[in-house]
Amino acid sequence: MADGTGADLVLRARVVHDGDGRRLHDARVVVRDGIVIAVGRHAGTEHRGRTLDVAAVVPGFVDAHMHVFRAARDMTAVDCRPPAVRSLAELVAALRARAQRLPADAWVEGSGYHELDLAERRHPTAAELEAAGGGRPVRLRHRSGHGVVVSTSALRAAGIDAATPDPPDGQVERDAQRAPTGLLLGSAARLVRPPRRSTADLAAEVDALSRRWLDLGITTVCDAGPDNDARVLELFALLVREKRVQQRMVVMRGASDALRDSATAAPPWTLPGDLGARLSAGHVKFMLAANGAGARGTQDRLAEAISVLARAGQACALHAADLETVAMALHALERAGPARGAPPHRVEHATLLPDALVARLQACGAAVIGHPLFVRRHGDRYLTDPDENPPAWVHRCGSLLAAGVRVAAGSDAPVVTPAPLQSMAAAMTRRTLSGTALGPDERVGFDAALALHTRWAATLCGRPELGRLRQGSPADLVVLPADPATLPPEVMAELPVTATMLAGEVVAGSL
Ligand SMILES: [Zn+2]
Repeated sequence: MADGTGADLVLRARVVHDGDGRRLHDARVVVRDGIVIAVGRHAGTEHRGRTLDVAAVVPGFVDAHMHVFRAARDMTAVDCRPPAVRSLAELVAALRARAQRLPADAWVEGSGYHELDLAERRHPTAAELEAAGGGRPVRLRHRSGHGVVVSTSALRAAGIDAATPDPPDGQVERDAQRAPTGLLLGSAARLVRPPRRSTADLAAEVDALSRRWLDLGITTVCDAGPDNDARVLELFALLVREKRVQQRMVVMRGASDALRDSATAAPPWTLPGDLGARLSAGHVKFMLAANGAGARGTQDRLAEAISVLARAGQACALHAADLETVAMALHALERAGPARGAPPHRVEHATLLPDALVARLQACGAAVIGHPLFVRRHGDRYLTDPDENPPAWVHRCGSLLAAGVRVAAGSDAPVVTPAPLQSMAAAMTRRTLSGTALGPDERVGFDAALALHTRWAATLCGRPELGRLRQGSPADLVVLPADPATLPPEVMAELPVTATMLAGEVVAGSL
């Protein structure tokens, strides 16, 4: 491998997919000092150094939208997704089994439930969680990341009762007597938090996650935390410096941190000089809530805030999933205009998109960050009520690309576990867990599926030098044991990664 001595590593591959849509057969990738110095059929024949024969080389995968700390926290939480949990009885049993193994004063945390995955199709109540906890406070996170249900004792410890007002952009759900039910939505979820873990514990969890992601070929991740501020940036810098996160990190900035007031942008983050290209600042993140009140209040204030940031050269990423919030996002982006010298603004999720909104996305130049694995894992939900959620509108991809809208993929981890090859297969087949193709016209071919997870994802994270293999690119690449383009998608989905290389170093697997 490239060892800093200037010697070259030549990967002689049966096929190289360069991330720009080219397939180079019997080609070489030449790496020196962490950089790809040549790619092509005749590249590297004159180079000294080690030559290795491999099957296939693709660019390192880029996850354009995930939540690192939530994913880390999930490692210790009870998994409440199907198939582990399919009913409220199973949910309570899983939490109770964990609670019985914890000290009497510990918090019991669960994650990943969704009321529509439960046989009863409702949220659990505070009383049900109380019974599961056996006296310990219980906090169960919704899979969307935008709500929790907490137990009676957790409500009591946080001082939440019938008199507690809803916080801005949040809701304490109440019963007919105004008593809290335990469901806390939006910012109200932050009213009840378990004790903060030590930085050492967090670092250990992030370390384990980072290694797992390297095993899957992920070399760059973008953290889309809506509350990211200077303190969070500092924590990421520490984790990157100590190589607890080995991937290149792009850190989005929360809207409230990026604005000094409604009319003034805060100065850009100062990034630590010693980390170079391993840490960069991403888009400014706005959360748009379905009740019409965005993170900055009204629609007009949202448009004004984005205008202020765009004029300061800051691109924005707007969390908008349903029709109402996507329309609100577009209204704001149309008024604000693009940020000069920055990547395009992004709409995160855009779960439901009728044709009229696709046309508006194209016209205003905004990009979409989608989640192909959601189609596989959650797609069946949209088949039950095609009038409410026309399958052709759900997690669109192919028609967006055809319309000229830029698209990239993210896992939204911990909502789903990152798995780039599985995500590519999902983009190609749109097959749900039940085997039905959801909105089959939205399928894409192999080259587009790869670009969603490499080149386009990197570009839409403000890192256009990544996600591609060409002369001068950082040598972030993945070696696979077969040409993924020639395999049926469901076989490709399970292809193991032979090796992952980051800046010319083998960081997972072996060559
Ligand atoms: Zn997210």
